[in-house]
Amino acid sequence: MINEDSNVQYLKGVGEKRAAALKKIGIQTVGDLVRYYPRTYRDWSKTVPIAQTVPGEDCCVRAVVDHTPVGAQIRKGLTLFKTKVTDGRDVMNITIFNNKYAAKALNAGEEYLFYGKVGGNLFSREMSSPEILKADQANASIHPIYPQSQDVSSKYLEKLIRTALDASPSLCREILPVDVRESLCLMPVNDAMREYHFPTDPDLFAEAKRRLVFEELFLLQAGLLLRRGMAKAASRFVIEDHTEAFYKRLPFVPTNAQLRAVRECMRQMTGGELMNRLLQGDVGSGKTMVAAALMDSVVQSGFQAAFMAPTEILASQHFQTISAFFNHTAVTVALLTGSHTAKQKREIKASVASGETQILIGTHALLQSDVSFARLGLVITDEQHRFGVRQRNTLIEKGDAPHTLVMSATPIPRTLALMIYGDLDVSVLDELPPGRQPVETYCVTSEKRERAYNYVKKHLDEGRQGYIVCPLVEDSDAVELAAAQTFAEDLANDTFREYAVGLLHGKMKAKDKERVMSAFAAGEIQLLVSTTVIEVGVDVPNAVIMVIENAERFGLSQLHQLRGRIGRGAHRSTCILISDATNETAQSRLHIMTQTSDGFRIADEDLRLRGPGNFFGDRQHGLPDLKIAMLTDTFTLKEANSFARRVLSGDPGLSRPEHAALRGAVERLFSQYQILN
Ligand code: ADP
Ligand code: MG
Repeated sequence: MINEDSNVQYLKGVGEKRAAALKKIGIQTVGDLVRYYPRTYRDWSKTVPIAQTVPGEDCCVRAVVDHTPVGAQIRKGLTLFKTKVTDGRDVMNITIFNNKYAAKALNAGEEYLFYGKVGGNLFSREMSSPEILKADQANASIHPIYPQSQDVSSKYLEKLIRTALDASPSLCREILPVDVRESLCLMPVNDAMREYHFPTDPDLFAEAKRRLVFEELFLLQAGLLLRRGMAKAASRFVIEDHTEAFYKRLPFVPTNAQLRAVRECMRQMTGGELMNRLLQGDVGSGKTMVAAALMDSVVQSGFQAAFMAPTEILASQHFQTISAFFNHTAVTVALLTGSHTAKQKREIKASVASGETQILIGTHALLQSDVSFARLGLVITDEQHRFGVRQRNTLIEKGDAPHTLVMSATPIPRTLALMIYGDLDVSVLDELPPGRQPVETYCVTSEKRERAYNYVKKHLDEGRQGYIVCPLVEDSDAVELAAAQTFAEDLANDTFREYAVGLLHGKMKAKDKERVMSAFAAGEIQLLVSTTVIEVGVDVPNAVIMVIENAERFGLSQLHQLRGRIGRGAHRSTCILISDATNETAQSRLHIMTQTSDGFRIADEDLRLRGPGNFFGDRQHGLPDLKIAMLTDTFTLKEANSFARRVLSGDPGLSRPEHAALRGAVERLFSQYQILN
């Protein structure tokens, strides 16, 4: 009996060649096949009279063929077969391109269904290469349309999926625990599968979809929780709380939000529980201090801490800030990035491996296989969304189930956070340190550029610093790079020739970037013309003005991040967005920036306006692709999360026999993505 695990080659009609073509679109097993869901449907059950067809739209027409189509070779390789069809009142022209078999299959005087885009005008209608079914065929119903490949057509997939579903009424394993299914009144999986591929009824179809979406999200959430459950059992770093002493050394008073976040972390770590936590806090909310407080207690308890940041600039800035927190203490802090010499790297790695270095801060360089720790107790990643889950795990695996904290300054919409971090506890810094003034934001067209620049000069004259940001992404091409460089040089040599101007872009060598950044931080550079490399973390409180060119080319969350570079000191700050975009979406996006400085609101809007695909850019977030659920299925996602939590809290390892199928499914899903270790 075939089941989900059977190779597709066991199905009738699949030979070696077909199997290879199917493999190319991700289908190897029968389970893969039935989870290859329709992209859309074609409803052959609703036909319209020819007179009511709308030119330019897909229609289904029931009509009798006048004569078998006659072929005419227009030129080499192009033969048109033409005929007329009638529904008894009107006539429609049918043209079939090159397909002799389709043409010959039409018999004069017989009735067919024609599905396709209608062309023509008020007086005559036509359809080119329609899909055709015999009208007396019983399957004049709703048909699935699958994403096709060169070698695998939608029609073929439809037939194959039908074969698979017909082969066994219990083809798919029921993985949802029975109590979950009952509480939510979910359809049995095999019924849902059949109804979703071959709909029979709108209500049943909606139920089928609900069931399959829920199952997919539930599986993902259960997987994330299972990972945490397994790690929890292995935890063995009990931390002593040294935070009071740490606070006394700080040059400022922690905010209540910072105190609360540290307390939430410490409660777990001192209680012998494994911490797996997301720290969300808007730009400037002071996440670094929270990280330092935790690292301090971890180190005082005899363990090491690792802190990974996405860029060199960020890593070295963290290194400076964090080192300063440990001035006049015995705690040893080191920085490891790609730009150290081989000799320096060797020394740093040796001192980390021996345990002499207690806190290691760095970039992706920390992930290298020859970086090893003596007793790694805490792993912190900053700007988590910049790293894939796999990268985070690589670092975590350098310890024996260390505590982990991931920090995000890009407020992630709640749904996305659940999706990616369904297994994490969350602390939120919802308060900024005192004295901060919100950044005033304006949106202007390029006609006002000169006025904007004069406004920048005014601030520079007053001793402040500023940024001009061009939308050059880090992997943009040479032409764009040259354009940005020319633009910057023009600014330096012309508009701002009386000022010290620096240029910062992604293609610069790390050393050069570092030099420019430290000159800016030291106040030697007054105006920094920059690409997105300043996006995260850079902290220069004297910088109070920012002009963002072609602002429409940035995502909202990115703009929010950029804007967070100013407004970090006591001075009032201004951000000017320059954009000539006229389309409505672009304008309403930019308008949001002028209205709010609430990063969570901005993130939600960003997700709403751009969709999840664009939210993370092309960066891997390391999760399995969703086949049927969407990130906008917020309600079902929350439901899936809460039911998964309920199931996992009763059976943390999913080891009970009634959860065997669920556990198997989770393992299969996650093994493809190497998330479970
Ligand atoms: P982010 O959350 O964006 O990483 P940082 O940790 O870089 O924020 O902190 C932003 C700035 O605020 C830093 O200059 C930091 O020293 C300062 N800061 C952090 N906490 C406080 C506080 N409680 N009071 C005053 N300043 C603070
Ligand atoms: Mg930060």
